[in-house]
Amino acid sequence: MTHSNYQSWGRYPKATHTIAPLYWRTDPLPLPEDHSKKVLPYGMGRSYGDSCLNNGGTLFPTRALNHFLQFDSETGILTCEAGVTLGEILAFCVSKHWFLPVTPGTQFVTVGGAIANDVHGKNHHRAGTFGNHVLEFELLRSNGERLLCSPNHNQPYYAATIGGLGLTGLITWATLQLKPIHHRALHTETCPFANLDNYFELSNESDHFCEYTVAWVDCSANGPNLGRGLLFRGNHLKPEEVPKHWKVPSRNFRLPLNLPGFFLNSWTVRTFNQWYYQRQQPKTTLPILQDYQPFFYPLDSIQDWNKLYGKTGFLQYQLTVPAHDRSIIKNIFQTIANSGLNSFLAVLKTFGDHSSPGLLSFPRPGVTLALDFPIKGAKTFKLLDYLDDQVAEAQGAVYPAKDARLSPRHFQTYFPQWETLANYIDPRFSSSFWRRVTAQTSPTKPILTNTSPSENPSTQQPSTLEANHSPTPSHLGTESPSKPHSTLPTPTNSDKTAQDISQ
Ligand SMILES: Cc1cc2nc3c(=O)[nH]c(=O)nc-3n(C[C@H](O)[C@H](O)[C@H](O)COP(=O)(O)OP(=O)(O)OC[C@H]3O[C@@H](n4cnc5c(N)ncnc54)[C@H](O)[C@@H]3O)c2cc1C
Repeated sequence: MTHSNYQSWGRYPKATHTIAPLYWRTDPLPLPEDHSKKVLPYGMGRSYGDSCLNNGGTLFPTRALNHFLQFDSETGILTCEAGVTLGEILAFCVSKHWFLPVTPGTQFVTVGGAIANDVHGKNHHRAGTFGNHVLEFELLRSNGERLLCSPNHNQPYYAATIGGLGLTGLITWATLQLKPIHHRALHTETCPFANLDNYFELSNESDHFCEYTVAWVDCSANGPNLGRGLLFRGNHLKPEEVPKHWKVPSRNFRLPLNLPGFFLNSWTVRTFNQWYYQRQQPKTTLPILQDYQPFFYPLDSIQDWNKLYGKTGFLQYQLTVPAHDRSIIKNIFQTIANSGLNSFLAVLKTFGDHSSPGLLSFPRPGVTLALDFPIKGAKTFKLLDYLDDQVAEAQGAVYPAKDARLSPRHFQTYFPQWETLANYIDPRFSSSFWRRVTAQTSPTKPILTNTSPSENPSTQQPSTLEANHSPTPSHLGTESPSKPHSTLPTPTNSDKTAQDISQ
């Protein structure tokens, strides 16, 4: 039976699947008889774009693989099935004084999903990625082989599967090294910054003495306020700081319905950003005690918050560029401010220089910026195409877990190691994302380099990014399944210079 209700978090693009839930990790994979039909594991669908979608193929929901298998309370080594969520691990281990070594901004993700995207958190500068703490896992291949993967066993499969986008086979269980804590609360601080230069200073300083740092930026601010925002930082408590009594906050609110598409317009987004900036100004300069839940997962208290964007869905865009190149981040904020396409949420974070064991891992030393855009037709895609070029020019990358629209040429420029990954992909596995970014393309000119100031849209008027542009088929989420092959880059709308964009 086909289903259209398995979506990604951004609810774009739409996809239709055959659903074959997995119930026992010891069972063989329920592969379709038709060998041309591809399969893909599906965790909590918290990826924003199409890396967790397999349009026209089969999805294997993994949530029923939710058993804890072994825990050593002395060492903090936990083995669990791959459908266990990070929230379930925390519910089990925090009271035993153990914590996740790395956690993304939501706890509603599975262990399998966290490995397949090699997720990062607010402590990348200290702890690297999730993959840095995965001791071993079992990989079930479509031929029935079960590979034990670790740095010492089947290492190439270990490396290909961490950040391998679910394409190398099914992770049935994994062993993780947790980190010790003394209490569920943290000491946290909110520090305002007036502009991006202030952010970089504050973030560098904070990274020295804070385990967790992340910043929210008011994307609607312009002129002297461009890049203003709030840096949130925190540390776990030392034994002597543990409070005698602690009340766990209750927090849960569900967005009851899809809001109409016009709800998030430039006025509401701007007003929200300005209100949030004022509202979150700290009342004290001293650190406060805060429960881990609101500190790590502020958005999790509003269930289904993605419905804010209406049925059309939204795009998240997360990039990373080297930190020494501050001008690119400034240009990006200026471009967005000028475009009239405000981002509802903008999150800035510094990545450290820990390397991940994952072959296709996204983080690299530098700074990362995540932006949410309501889909406002072609102008939204055009803006992001332009940003893709800026990121390529700075030798950065865009995060596949958040992507729904990258061109093959950009993906392959950001991740030249994709061809090595292709050697480890299970022949029965594929995804909408993978087919899109490895689609056969024809030769073209190289990616934009040396944008001159006159070509920089940050110096142009807001209307310039709204010019004449139609989404390409990939933008519309249509695709035809094809095998990944070595490709030659092709021209897309993003081959245009900033000047072309303004025409
Ligand atoms: C509010 C919010 C905040 C977020 N913050 C961050 C953040 O701070 N840092 C960050 O890195 N990411 C972040 N993310 C993205 C999210 O952490 C990742 O997309 C994560 O991988 C989603 O896990 P999932 O279980 O929902 O997997 P899905 O989205 O369902 O799938 C993701 C990938 O994992 C594969 N997969 C799932 N299970 C298995 C398995 N058992 N075996 C093999 N492959 C499998 C799928 O095939 C797919 O390729 C955030 C997402 C949201 C919604």
